[in-house]
Amino acid sequence: MISQRYLFPEIPEELKGLEDLASDMLWHTVSGSRRLWRKIDPKLWEATSNPWFILESLSKEKMKDLSQDPEFQSLFKCQLEERKKYFEHKTWFEENFPHFKANIAYFSMEFGLGEELPIYSGGLGILAGDYLKSASDLGLPVVGIGLLYQQGYFRQLIDSKGEQIEFYPYNDPALLPVFPLRNESGEWFSIEVQLPGRVLTLRPWYVIVGRVFLYLLDSNDPANIPSDRTITSTLYGGDNEMRILQEIALGIGGWKLLSKLGIKCSICHLNEGHAAFAILERAKSCMQEMSLDSFWTALWVTRAGNLFTTHTPVEAGFDRFSPTLFLKYFTDFCQDVKISADDLLALGQQYRSKEEPFNMAYLALRGSAATNGVSKLHGTVSQNIFRGLFPRWPVGQIPIGSVTNGVHVPTWHSQETDELWGSICGKDLWRQPTEKLEEKFRSASDCTLLEWRKKNRLNLILALRKRIRCHCAMMGRHPSDMSECNCLFDPNVLTIGFARRFASYKRPTLLLHDKERLARILTDPHRPVQLVVAGKAHPQDQIGKAMIREWTAFVSRKELHNRVLFVEDYDMRLALDLVQGIDLWINNPRRPWEASGTSGMKVVVNGGLNISELDGWWAEAYSADLGWALGDGKEHDADPAWDAYEAEQLYNLLENEVIPAFYERDERGIPQKWVNKIRESVSRLTPYFSANRMVREYANIYYTPLCYAIEKRKSKAGYLARELENWKNKITTHWGSLHFGNFNYIQSEGQIQFSVQVYLDEIQPDWVAVELYADESGQHPQFCNIMERAEPLVGALNGFVYKLTVTTQRPAEDFTPRIRPYHPEAFLPVESAEILWFR
Ligand SMILES: *Cc1c(COP(=O)(O)O)cnc(C)c1O
Repeated sequence: MISQRYLFPEIPEELKGLEDLASDMLWHTVSGSRRLWRKIDPKLWEATSNPWFILESLSKEKMKDLSQDPEFQSLFKCQLEERKKYFEHKTWFEENFPHFKANIAYFSMEFGLGEELPIYSGGLGILAGDYLKSASDLGLPVVGIGLLYQQGYFRQLIDSKGEQIEFYPYNDPALLPVFPLRNESGEWFSIEVQLPGRVLTLRPWYVIVGRVFLYLLDSNDPANIPSDRTITSTLYGGDNEMRILQEIALGIGGWKLLSKLGIKCSICHLNEGHAAFAILERAKSCMQEMSLDSFWTALWVTRAGNLFTTHTPVEAGFDRFSPTLFLKYFTDFCQDVKISADDLLALGQQYRSKEEPFNMAYLALRGSAATNGVSKLHGTVSQNIFRGLFPRWPVGQIPIGSVTNGVHVPTWHSQETDELWGSICGKDLWRQPTEKLEEKFRSASDCTLLEWRKKNRLNLILALRKRIRCHCAMMGRHPSDMSECNCLFDPNVLTIGFARRFASYKRPTLLLHDKERLARILTDPHRPVQLVVAGKAHPQDQIGKAMIREWTAFVSRKELHNRVLFVEDYDMRLALDLVQGIDLWINNPRRPWEASGTSGMKVVVNGGLNISELDGWWAEAYSADLGWALGDGKEHDADPAWDAYEAEQLYNLLENEVIPAFYERDERGIPQKWVNKIRESVSRLTPYFSANRMVREYANIYYTPLCYAIEKRKSKAGYLARELENWKNKITTHWGSLHFGNFNYIQSEGQIQFSVQVYLDEIQPDWVAVELYADESGQHPQFCNIMERAEPLVGALNGFVYKLTVTTQRPAEDFTPRIRPYHPEAFLPVESAEILWFR
């Protein structure tokens, strides 16, 4: 592959390398780089934060000026030097996995790398962006796969009546930091996907994220029929048919692109189920590559290299397609790989049936060796969501792990934060393991922490004033109003923030439960509070839009002038301002619907504190010495009485704990309680809730073992995969005839000797495991141990006694034997979920 970028023939010698800084989206986030682009064109930087666009807009005269500006030159040279060092340093991955030569393909429907490439809607996309950046920092051999949307997600304006208005500005690829992917002779690659009656052409672009490339597919090719050209128009727009087409483009098109580029990916990581069709295309291409005659054998090979990260805490969140819609697009595929339509459909169903919709998450889970949730709690919640695929399995043994999300700290820290941690920990702290940082962070003095917070808060207030000035002018406000914008908010007042998507489960209006009480809190003359709110409602979500109106009406109350703001168009740039300056971040979703949540982590990085429902990441992070908790750590569904209770709890905490902690000062002006919490929060949480730790966990827990497993299954022309397939077929055929005989136990002095008779019939004893199981109960943990095969049963084919002696205080009745399939090389129970209980 040849990467051919736009060239700037007129770029003078003194500015050589500027195009490298402008085209690298990882480098845009470096604090020094932000300074550089602001210096080149402060206006354009304010308006776009798009270095590539700034570079393209540079006149010859301006370039000449910059070439001769010593201040600019020193900033510029310093950035070039730092970037050079970034690429030269030996990475964590190289040091720890010198023999790992495979690539990792990371598929996601959205990527939030920065506002200059607006192809994300919220947390899922930003996580994907932060993941790629950290993968680059740590040196993981990752390539990203996504779609280039011409319009992306909508932009929000609030009109003078407080209503959300939606806009879909067009993303001109020529002005974005994306580049056409061309082959050696300069020809633009194209990927072809067969659709009913036509071929869909997808054009790949690439995005540079430090060491990592992100490939984006684009259907807006004149060669396509008009409706297909719009497949990559909007993110989460259109109907279900549009959605399946997008997912075909991403999953099928994405895997085809990797094959075409010759990028050998051992690991295929699906960020949410949207991309699960990649599983099908991967198995198909494996069939051809290894000359296998069965699609299923190919799936036995490739499954070992697939990882599925689920993000949804409710079943309704999964994408589903009717069998008719699904088969409209996959009948040809079935013929190509010589399988029946019913068999393919069943991969996305719980029960084989003609009616049940095809569920993308089921395909993703069934087609992957491993599945994980995005926080510990969400891992458990997901075990419940997927329990239907593992009938009669105890929920706690459903094979779903968890890797808690984290944020790419250099993207979200303010310049002041960067400088502070740089001075305490040394440079480049986020390119190495983070475990040692806690102790170093802790050494910061009260004064240092408070000075830092002051600067961060002040920057937020200045940024808000600018935004509000602009908004007021747009709304045609009187100039006298406008001058008030210059003294909006007070830099010494406790500043609270609430910003997120306006989805019902996030309860964006919980704070408005008792509007008079909130108004009293905000306007207390001795301990005033100022509040910033932001968020978008999905264009079709009428309830979400009504909640925005409720806020805008509240904000416009006379007595709340200068105490509360609703800021329009919540996006990464606004989020950056907010998370850097906010003192207290409120998050009150209905547990357990916030799978992880990441905005609170961004706040932690910059020294803000959290008050949050014990849900997602906060259920892991919370401790009384570093923040505040809402709820009781239990689920209450959408009970209005419980919502009311939690609203009361929130007001009480604000009035009795949070606000006093901020305003109680000693003689030097130090709020001791507050500053202690900052120190605990920053030092204990930042290292762990960083994408750095998250990416290392993915590498250690999943990528390495899966890479090993798939190599094994591929070797010797797929010998092991065939063996596994045979084993599984025999299990399926004979499972029904398996049964138990007598089950006995003898109790003596804290020990119980269990023995059970088992008739395996035509199943070989080493194809199964006989286990003794006891559920968790009271103070007793779950118990599950293999029973030993002992003497054969007289006159029986594969009949045996299995025995186990247990030292326990539990009653013998707690224990029960069970049989499940076993193979040392299989991922169980994903690859064979049968289970037979004695009772
Ligand atoms: C971080 C972020 C999110 C996700 O945060 P949540 O805590 O999940 O709400 C959403 N939108 C933007 C713009 C963000 O920066």
